[in-house]
Parts: sequence; structure tokens; C-alpha cells
Amino acid sequence: MDDCIFCKIAAGDVPASIVKQDDLVVAFEDINPQAPIHIQIIPRKHIPSVLELDSAQVDILARMVETANEIARERGLDERGFRLVFNCGPEAGQTVPHLHLHLLGGRAMSWPPG
Ligand code: AMP
Ligand code: ZN
Repeated sequence: MDDCIFCKIAAGDVPASIVKQDDLVVAFEDINPQAPIHIQIIPRKHIPSVLELDSAQVDILARMVETANEIARERGLDERGFRLVFNCGPEAGQTVPHLHLHLLGGRAMSWPPG
């Protein structure tokens, strides 16, 4: 999609600190980290939000979670714990309309979220 910042990152047209990438997904450091480790995992395909995910995209969703798990293990978060978040829509605070999975870790987190 032309005017989408995350499509541009996936295409390499906007710089980002890439952590991992493959044919389906790209993972990169969040520009405004909310925890010592804060990484975005996105599909290469433009999918506006989790609402548009269904069984036809199960390969993308699975790869996003696998990628988050790989990074969590590499950063030692598998023992400590971590959080995976999909924000969807205005009340959840979604600001970028391209599906992204937040991987947050490296500090204790409270519940419920703000
Ligand atoms: P959300 O509020 O769930 O839509 O999350 C969007 C996230 O994308 C925020 O955590 C932003 O800091 C992050 N973000 C926005 N633009 C960029 C960018 N150019 N590079 C890396 N992260 C970004
Ligand atoms: Zn996009």
C-alpha cells in the first residue's frame, strides 16, 4: 500500500533497525520503545488490523508468533517472560493501520494495561 509506513519499512524504502525478516514477515526495533525490548513483527502483506485476519492468513499469523518466540528466546525473555500485543482500533490505541505484533520485555509489567 502506497502511503503506509510499515509497507515502506517492509520494502526497505524507509530505514528501520531490522531484527529478522523472511518471505512473510519483518521484525524491527520500535522507534519509541515502551520497554527495554520493544520489537514490531509485521507481515510483508498490507493487512490493516487483526480484524482482517482469518484462516486464509493462518500462515502469516503463525510466522508472526514464531518470529516473536525466536526473538524472545534469543533475548533471554523465555525465562523472564514477555508480552505480545495486537492493538486494534482507536480505543486500543492503534496508530499504524498495518497489522503489527508488539513484543515487549525486559521489565516487569502491570495488569490490567492502561
Ligand atoms: P500501535 O499504537 O499499536 O499502532 O503501535 C504502533 C507502533 O509503531 C508504536 O509503538 C510506534 O512507536 C511504532 N512505530 C511507528 N513508526 C515507526 C517507525 N518508523 N519505525 C519503528 N517503529 C515505529
Ligand atoms: Zn502497510
